[in-house]
Amino acid sequence: MELKQFKAESKRLLDLMINSIYTHKEIFLRELISNASDAIDKIYYRALTDDSLQFNKDDYYIRIAVDKEKRLLTVSDTGIGMTREELEENLGVIARSGSLAFKQENELEDDRALIGQFGVGFYSAFMVADTVTVISRAHGSDKAWKWESRGVEGYTIEPWEKDSAGTDVVLKIRENTEDEDYGQFLEEHRIIAIVKKYSDFIRYPIRMNVTKTRLKEGSDSEYEEYVQEEIINSMVPIWKKNKNELKEEDYLNFYAEKRYGFDKPLRYVHISAEGAVSYRSILFIPERAPFDFYTPEYEKGLELYANGVLVMSKCPDLLPDYFSFVKGMVDSDDLSLNISREMLQHDRQLKLIAKNIQSRIKSELADMLRDEREKYETFFKSFGRQLKYGVYVQFGANKDVLQDLLLFYSHREKKMITLEEYVAKMPEDQKFIYYAAGESVEKLEKLPQTEFVRDKGYDILFLTEDIDEFAVKMLREYKDKQFKSVSSGDLGIDEAKDSEPDEEGKKVFAAMKEILGDKVKEVRASRRLKSHPVCLTSEGELSIEMEKILNALPNAQGIKAEKILEINTGHRVYQVLKKAHSEDREKFKLYTDLLYNQALLIEGIPLEDPVDFTNKVCQMMQ
Ligand code: ADP
Repeated sequence: MELKQFKAESKRLLDLMINSIYTHKEIFLRELISNASDAIDKIYYRALTDDSLQFNKDDYYIRIAVDKEKRLLTVSDTGIGMTREELEENLGVIARSGSLAFKQENELEDDRALIGQFGVGFYSAFMVADTVTVISRAHGSDKAWKWESRGVEGYTIEPWEKDSAGTDVVLKIRENTEDEDYGQFLEEHRIIAIVKKYSDFIRYPIRMNVTKTRLKEGSDSEYEEYVQEEIINSMVPIWKKNKNELKEEDYLNFYAEKRYGFDKPLRYVHISAEGAVSYRSILFIPERAPFDFYTPEYEKGLELYANGVLVMSKCPDLLPDYFSFVKGMVDSDDLSLNISREMLQHDRQLKLIAKNIQSRIKSELADMLRDEREKYETFFKSFGRQLKYGVYVQFGANKDVLQDLLLFYSHREKKMITLEEYVAKMPEDQKFIYYAAGESVEKLEKLPQTEFVRDKGYDILFLTEDIDEFAVKMLREYKDKQFKSVSSGDLGIDEAKDSEPDEEGKKVFAAMKEILGDKVKEVRASRRLKSHPVCLTSEGELSIEMEKILNALPNAQGIKAEKILEINTGHRVYQVLKKAHSEDREKFKLYTDLLYNQALLIEGIPLEDPVDFTNKVCQMMQ
C-alpha cells in the first residue's frame, strides 16, 4: 500500500511529539476526548437546522476501550465522522500550521514551549503510542476508511468496514522504557482519574467497561469480579457547579481543555448572577497574548451557551474591543436556543449580560492592580497596548473606564506607575503631567529636552509604544492635570519662559530661519536645555514622535509636525555661532546646517541628506 507523506510542518511536529520530553503526556486523552465531543457537537448542530435529522441523546456518546494484552487504547465516538478527503486533510496536515510557521520564524525554545503554546490536538497521541489508527465513517456515507501512521514516515489510507457513523481512534501504546511508564495508560483506574481530571464536564457520556467486585451469589464471604459499562464523567459543566466545590486546578484544566489559550491564565472569575438577568460565567485573563492578537485576524468573543448548550463559540457582542483578550464562557437560561446571530446583537438580555461582564472585568483588573502588582504588570505587558488603544478610539469615549488601568514608565521611579501614582507625587508647584515620547527608555533617558523638567524635580512619563502619545492626547488631562510633552513649545514652567534674546540674538535666529526655510517654523532661544546645544520641539497638536509614527504607516500622507529649532544660548557653541554670523556668512550657513542635522539625529529623524552632512563634518575637520 502507498505510504503518503505528511506535510512538512506536520512532520516536524510529529517528530517533536514522538521525541517529546513533555511531562504531562496524559493530556493526549483530553485532546482525543475533546475531538470526539466536537464531532458529536457537529451532528448536534446539524440536527438543529435540519428537520430530517433527529438528535436522540442516547445515540451519542464516547467510549473508551482497553486491550491490555495487545496494548491497545481506543477512543470511539458516534459523532460526525470523516470522509477519506477529510481524513487526509485533517490528519495529514496540522490544522494550525499557520501558527507553527510563525513560531518557527521566532525560534522554538523547546518542544515543551511548542506544545504549551499551541496544544497540538490529535498529534499528541504520538507521545504515548507508536502506531495510531483512525477508523472513521462520515455521517451520511456508507463507506468507512482506515487511516494509519507509525510516525514521521507517513500514513496509509484504505477502505474499511464500520457499522455506523463515527470515529475510532486506536492507539498502540508504547512499550515501557526505563524512564517512562506508558503502561499506566492501559490501567482502568488511571484512565478514569485522567478523565475526571480533564474531561469530567464533557456533556456527552464517556462510557467505559469498569471492573467491579460483588459477593458471589449464594455466598456471604466470597467475592467475584465482574465487568460493567459505566459512565465515568459527571457531565455537569464546571460552571454549573458550586464555587466552593472547585479548586484553582479545576479552572486551569477547564481553560486548557477548552483551548482558550495555552498559557496559564493570570486570573479567573466565576460568576453566578441572578436578578434582572440570570447567567453563569467563567472568565479568564490570560497571561500572554495569542500570536495573532494584535492582527486583524484575531477574533474576540466568549463562548455562549443557552441553558447548557453551546450556541456560539465566539460571541463578540459580549466583550468590548478593549477587553478583547478575555477568554471564557457565558451560560444563560434566559436566551433562546435558536437565536440567530443578527437577533443576538439586539437581544436585551445579552446586552445586560455584556454590561455586567464588562464592569466585572474592569473591577477584576483593578483588584489585580491593587493586590497583585507583579501579575498586573505581566498582564499589562501583554495587553496594555489594547487598553491604550481603547482609550484612543471612538474619540476617547471609554477613557473613564480605562484611565486608571494604564501604566506608564516613570523616569523617577524607574518602573511602571499609574497616573494616580504620578499625580499623588507631584510637587505642589507642578502644574502638568510631563511626558516624553520616543523609541525606548534608554533613548529617552538621554533626550536633551528632558533636562530642564528633570532639574525641576518633576517626574516624566516615558512613552515608548506607538499608541502611547495618541492615547495621552486623547486623555488630555487626568485629575484636572493636563498632559504636557517635554518637547512642546511651552513647558508651562515660569522660569522656562523663552527669554527675549538681545538684538544680536534676534538677528542670528532670523538668519538661521532664513537658511533653513520651511524645514522649521521658527528658531528660538531655549530654556529647557542645559548641556546640549540644540534640540527640536514642536508646536500644535502633532508632535515629532507622532509625525514619525504616522509617516511609517502604509498610507502615510507626509504629515509634518510644526518644528521649532531651539538653541541653547548658554552653550559655547552659541558664541561660535554668533561670531560666524558677524564675520563669516559661509561658516554661519555651515554651522546652522550642522546644528539642524544634529537636532534631527537626536530626535531619531532620518537626515534629509546624510552624505552632505558627513561632507560638512569633514569640511570642518580640515
Ligand atoms: P483541532 O481539534 O484543534 O482542530 P486536531 O489535530 O485535534 O486539531 O484535529 C484536527 C481535525 O481533525 C479536527 O479539527 C477535526 O476536523 C478532525 N477530527 C479529529 N478527531 C476527530 C473525530 N474524532 N471525529 C471527527 N473529526 C475529527
